[in-house]
Amino acid sequence: MKPPWWMGGVNFSCQSGCGKCCDQPGGIVYLSIADAERISQHSDLSVEDWLERDARKTYDGRFVLKSREEDGICIHLNEHHQCSIYKVRPQQCKAFPWWGENLVSDRAWSQVKEQCPGIDAEDALLVEGNTIRLHIFSDRESTKGFREWPPQARRNKR
Ligand code: SF4
Repeated sequence: MKPPWWMGGVNFSCQSGCGKCCDQPGGIVYLSIADAERISQHSDLSVEDWLERDARKTYDGRFVLKSREEDGICIHLNEHHQCSIYKVRPQQCKAFPWWGENLVSDRAWSQVKEQCPGIDAEDALLVEGNTIRLHIFSDRESTKGFREWPPQARRNKR
């Protein structure tokens, strides 16, 4: 089978102070179980309390990050267009622009390139195909998400 077009690597370097992938009103950031554990710990809160404060549920019950009420933009994007929880940010954010939906066709990728100045930027470095593949898996796991805390699988182990 022919390898995907991105398997040879893609040049990319996230541009400081850009924030374009985070400042879209109505953007949805799905949360993985690992995200909830990592970010709640960073916030010195229990997972339950953090979910109550910073997450909401989609129509089908998955947890997603809250957005600001006034403009629908992520609650963690600060006035300098930087992520205020960058070091512990959700894995879906970390995986951008390597989301399956972005890589699925030339057309989809062209649209992402228009939005993201980090792709083929002057200071871009080659991101290898295997790294891109890991990001795709990571994004996929986040999109599956979880609907309750503790998750069902963990309760069954108790
Ligand atoms: S749009 Fe691209 S360059 Fe800008 S913050 Fe997002 S990943 Fe970085």
